[in-house]
Amino acid sequence: MKRRDFIKETLAGLERDGLRRNLQSLSPLAGGRISLEGRPFLNLSSNDYLGLSQHEELKEAAAEAARRWGVGAGASRLITGNHQFYELLEEKIARFKRKEAAIVFSSGYMANIGVLSSLIERGDRVFSDELNHASIIDGIRMSRGQLFIYRHKDADHLEYLLENSSGVGKAIIVTDTVFSMDGDVAPLERLVEIRRKHGCLLVVDEAHATGVIGEHGRGVAEYLNLEGEIDVTVGTFSKALGSYGAFAAGKRDLIDFFLNRARSLIYTTGLPPAVIATNIAALGLVEKYPDLRQKLRDNTHLLHKALQEMGFRLPPAETAILPLMVGETTKVIELSEGLFQEGIIAKPIRPPTVPEGTARLRITASAAHRREDLEAAIAAFERCGKKSGMITGGR
Ligand SMILES: *Cc1c(COP(=O)(O)O)cnc(C)c1O
Repeated sequence: MKRRDFIKETLAGLERDGLRRNLQSLSPLAGGRISLEGRPFLNLSSNDYLGLSQHEELKEAAAEAARRWGVGAGASRLITGNHQFYELLEEKIARFKRKEAAIVFSSGYMANIGVLSSLIERGDRVFSDELNHASIIDGIRMSRGQLFIYRHKDADHLEYLLENSSGVGKAIIVTDTVFSMDGDVAPLERLVEIRRKHGCLLVVDEAHATGVIGEHGRGVAEYLNLEGEIDVTVGTFSKALGSYGAFAAGKRDLIDFFLNRARSLIYTTGLPPAVIATNIAALGLVEKYPDLRQKLRDNTHLLHKALQEMGFRLPPAETAILPLMVGETTKVIELSEGLFQEGIIAKPIRPPTVPEGTARLRITASAAHRREDLEAAIAAFERCGKKSGMITGGR
């Protein structure tokens, strides 16, 4: 019998459903823009919320470290890849996050799989929000624990599941603080209450909140004054901090446990010196320039208000992530392509990343965007929205 060509079939299926993905070759420009085949676009699909990826001070820090120490670590951290700057960076993170200690991972994805696969042991129960990031889901899958998925942000459902299940081990609650596709915020006050009442461990992923939310940019836990109630906080350098890498912070013993047990840290090469130096400098900038957070809020507000007023469907803005809800996958692709013709990158988010029938444009402003560029983008949204019949117009 002839073997089924599952690769061709899979790709053809994706093609048929309008779900086949491909890569674009681009180069970043200043001002929250990118260049594609020599043409500039306003980038409304980046997580570079503060524009730090192009910041002169960070470019300088990276260049200097590379010149002095080279471009690679040469080994894992536990062998000979633990550059002296790791210690400084980890001390800085611990102070920033108001925790005893912190440990750096090579990315947010690796932080979550390392933290969760090591922390969750056989016999443990883990309670996870249904819209948690893929890296959390994968980290849980790699563990031997029993998984309970609670309805999105539904603390009552979480508590019901906790009370109606039993396990010989510990119970762990894990959540994004800012959800990456809808930009809404986890009910952290309730989760903290439940943690106390049931003696659970609470793990939060502040990937989209770090550098953005809270007066000092420490995240949702800072904003709600709950930093003392979180057992493990994960954050990344790859979004608002403009660079690459991630961390987990918590009690010193716990951090030492990760160093000894988190396989995504033990079995991977240390970060390049330039990345570590950049991250140290980026934490400094987040503290030094609170006005960048204000600029981000102003730009987000400008976009959200204008799009809502012209008739697009957007939920109230809680964070810098604005989901413009469309519904049908083909419609969202049409809108995205129309905007592309107008020099705007606003990527469609479609199933399976989001549930069927909830395709949307996921729009993010940046502190780096100039007001006139955003005004031009708003006018383009109006033209494209009218053309596709999504809005009737008349602002
Ligand atoms: C982006 C993201 C990650 C992954 O971080 P990387 O540094 O890009 O690997 C993890 N968790 C959440 C909630 C994210 O949004």
